[in-house]
Amino acid sequence: MKKLLLLAALCFPFAIPMSAQKVAVRAGHVVDPATGTAAADQVILVEDGRITAVGRNLDVRGVDRVIDLSDAWVMPGLMDAHVHLTLNMPDEMGVAVPLPTFYLSQSNASRALLGVKNARDVLHAGFTTVKDIGNDGNYVATDLRRAVEAGWIEGPTILNTGKIIGPFGGQTHDISPDMPHIWEFEYVDADSPEEVRKAVRQNIYYGATAIKLVADNSAFYYDVDEIRAAVDEAAKAGLTVAVHAYGGEGARNAILAGAHSIEHGWTLDDELLRLMKERGTVLVGTDFPLEHYRAMVMFFPDPEGIYAQTVRRLRRAHEIGVRMAFGSDVVVDLLDRDRGRLALDFLSTWVEAGVPAPEILRAFTTNNAEFLRVADERGAIAPGQWADLVATPGNPLQDILQLREIRYVMKEGRVVRSE
Ligand SMILES: [Zn+2]
Repeated sequence: MKKLLLLAALCFPFAIPMSAQKVAVRAGHVVDPATGTAAADQVILVEDGRITAVGRNLDVRGVDRVIDLSDAWVMPGLMDAHVHLTLNMPDEMGVAVPLPTFYLSQSNASRALLGVKNARDVLHAGFTTVKDIGNDGNYVATDLRRAVEAGWIEGPTILNTGKIIGPFGGQTHDISPDMPHIWEFEYVDADSPEEVRKAVRQNIYYGATAIKLVADNSAFYYDVDEIRAAVDEAAKAGLTVAVHAYGGEGARNAILAGAHSIEHGWTLDDELLRLMKERGTVLVGTDFPLEHYRAMVMFFPDPEGIYAQTVRRLRRAHEIGVRMAFGSDVVVDLLDRDRGRLALDFLSTWVEAGVPAPEILRAFTTNNAEFLRVADERGAIAPGQWADLVATPGNPLQDILQLREIRYVMKEGRVVRSE
């Protein structure tokens, strides 16, 4: 039996149970993003991966291990509500491969392996929970999520939306009528409330834990009844519905239909932002930094223009009081940085828009935990929560760019990174 356990440990190093492991983390400060406050000289007690107590003079006798972060600021792990773990559009000689070419040239096996790498990279950067928002081949992200849950691979807690549900053609354009519907590896065509309901059921059957629609990527867009059908059907299974919409009527219909989030929303005007605030629709803005827009000039021919628009919309959303959850949406490897580092680049857009540091931190933690419906277990440093922690050298409530200096990551009580 012992031999078997040893073998299991060698083969599946992440599957080692944390049984009865008691850990004490000495924290210089513990940050509470929900209130925007920090408490000095704290001890966090962790047992079997969960936090059991937090306080100043806790008794650490009897713990198996004391972790010294007494010179650091400790906070809940970061969350990203818009990632594509199994999609990477290579940038070749300044020209990105168009999506159809990508679908035809990449096997789902290779995309699963890419997902393994991206899952590890985002976790090491400090993202302990992410939502894979589709473009995942034939439900590859379901397998990726299950591999993390089984302890086969290292990665964050994953929610996954499965195939993106959209009006005919998904997000492709100009595929010949003589060609097969190659988009069906990524998208489900659904062109009436009944078809949307069926698509939602299909996704749930194949392991989706959230639902994503694309509302306005074509000349035609979803109406209120179609989006409401998705919201109603998803609600039966307790799932949320995210809707890709830039602005205009597609976004308005999504908000009125009760969608839980608008993804991107780059052209949302004040009227729609106010409507979002009124209805409680979350904005997952995917607010690319200028450096990324410039590097993706093949998609964004006027990088300065779209960046200015992004900053303006982010500033207005903040001023109007729209609830915001952080989402990145990186799909092109740029500048020799991995997915996790690229996601943290987005902080510069939030700073440029004048959003205060505590509010930005909330978008990365508290707001996302509530939006992703994991707040009873993740997103705070409190008894009963999983010990998903990161640490920075300085105070993120004053300097949010400290999040780029994360050197310590703990996931469910296990040290992921400590240099
Ligand atoms: Zn996206």
